[in-house]
Amino acid sequence: MSATVRIIPLTMAFTTAHLVLDKGTVLVDAGMSVVARRFISALIRALDGRPLDLLIITHAHFDHGGCADAVVKATGCDVAMHERAAATLPEASPLPPGTSAWGSLLRILLAPARAFGPLTWPEVDVVLGERTGLARWGVAGRVVHTPGHTHGSVSVVLESGDAIVGDLAMNGLPMRRGPGMPVFAEDVGQVYHSWSRLLDLHAETVHPGHGRPFPASVLERALADRAQDV
Ligand SMILES: [Zn+2]
Ligand SMILES: [Zn+2]
Repeated sequence: MSATVRIIPLTMAFTTAHLVLDKGTVLVDAGMSVVARRFISALIRALDGRPLDLLIITHAHFDHGGCADAVVKATGCDVAMHERAAATLPEASPLPPGTSAWGSLLRILLAPARAFGPLTWPEVDVVLGERTGLARWGVAGRVVHTPGHTHGSVSVVLESGDAIVGDLAMNGLPMRRGPGMPVFAEDVGQVYHSWSRLLDLHAETVHPGHGRPFPASVLERALADRAQDV
């Protein structure tokens, strides 16, 4: 357990990236390229003179990796991504199907992703598999493969009980009203499976890429409801 870990949310244009400050520093996701200048300023301010050790991109979508190249240029950090996400580059992964009528409509509205700015992906230095410890970057926790939203999605689960999950779960408008299922998913069954994985790793607080943090018990209840329905 790390008593000193801090998580600083960097929220811009409806996406939240999270800066983890432990003995080392790890940034999880890097917003949309349209906000790159603002994003880099906020990141440098949050680092407060410390170097950035690693950028983990939870999945290859434009709203999570849009500033990644700018972050590397500004900080010289290494970049980590799951092997299945890295394999799609230099193209972003396509938006997955909607998991609800609203998701299907939103998918159409978001289809011209180019409107959100150009996408230049940095080189991937660390290709992630099923599970990678973060001790080597000075962070008490690990990054785990949590497919569902995309096949190559990962989450960062800290020993503090904080889980930074990208789009494995979402919370709040414009995506959804409360916390739960992402509005888009390549495999809904895998989303549930990955939620179980987070709970097995003792996740207590979920930090989504869209919306505010929420208790992991929400996922636990959703899994229990699903088990009753099946
Ligand atoms: Zn996504
Ligand atoms: Zn997203």
